[in-house]
Amino acid sequence: MPEGDTIFRSARALHRALAGKLITRFETGYAHLARVDDNQTIAGRTVECVEARGKWLLIFLSGDLILLSHMLMNGSWHIYRVGERWRRRRQDMHIVIETADWIAVAFTVPVAEFHSAASLLRKTALPALGPDLLKEDFDAERALEKIREHADEEIAVVLLNQRVMAGIGNVFKSEICFACRVHPFRQVATLTQAELEEIVYTSRKFLKANVADNAEGQIVTYTGLRRTTGSANESARLWVYGRQGQPCRRCGAAIQMRKQGTQARTTYWCPDCQPMPVDAPTNAENTATSVAAVDGCSHTPRHRKSFW
Ligand SMILES: [Zn+2]
Repeated sequence: MPEGDTIFRSARALHRALAGKLITRFETGYAHLARVDDNQTIAGRTVECVEARGKWLLIFLSGDLILLSHMLMNGSWHIYRVGERWRRRRQDMHIVIETADWIAVAFTVPVAEFHSAASLLRKTALPALGPDLLKEDFDAERALEKIREHADEEIAVVLLNQRVMAGIGNVFKSEICFACRVHPFRQVATLTQAELEEIVYTSRKFLKANVADNAEGQIVTYTGLRRTTGSANESARLWVYGRQGQPCRRCGAAIQMRKQGTQARTTYWCPDCQPMPVDAPTNAENTATSVAAVDGCSHTPRHRKSFW
């Protein structure tokens, strides 16, 4: 499944290529999109902007028309120069948006709908998304509030919930817990204020670092994007994800793995760096103890406020 940060990169590449450009051709295999094209002709409109909201991708066109898509498991948007060879089969193509210089192609995007600004507001899945970790105006306090609303759930499950914070995928979930030395199966209620702040801070830091771009202003085509992602040795870049049984890079203990949550997503952690506290409160009546402990050991550096 594409992670929130992958979709953010797709949106940014699409935005750079298409924003402000005139659409010269629109093609789709979807009858419901073709009907909109028949009535409200897509070619001739300008792409105003492209943005990601969690795992949704939105392409805003002139004349109050918004193309909303969701990649689900296998979908992706590619951007090609005119004449560049496609990296996926033509039969997997669902949508083509072409300008004078670029062709944006959606492959196996199972959810795609045209909206007006008004109908988009009524789309319940969108407003329900939590604060987007990659947005400049990310609201950390709101994110902390949303996390605390899931007091009886395990922290790694909550991190994947796009309605709490938008952007974290399964790989980052484990990496964030490791970096914060928090056992991924701990209930939110057992986490101190300092730990929660650390988790939100690290989530933002990791996601932002992952979309850091040294080619500012340049268009990254699908080929380029892939090379950028794959050039560094990914397995050496990660702390715990995919490293079951291998030694922890910090302490040498064997990395553990367990399926977690109703969707049985794989979760990795180091049993020594991320111990499950023996006295971890497991129900509401013990929470007071945990809160009292927070006041004594809060160590969140002040400078984080400015980062947020
Ligand atoms: Zn360790």
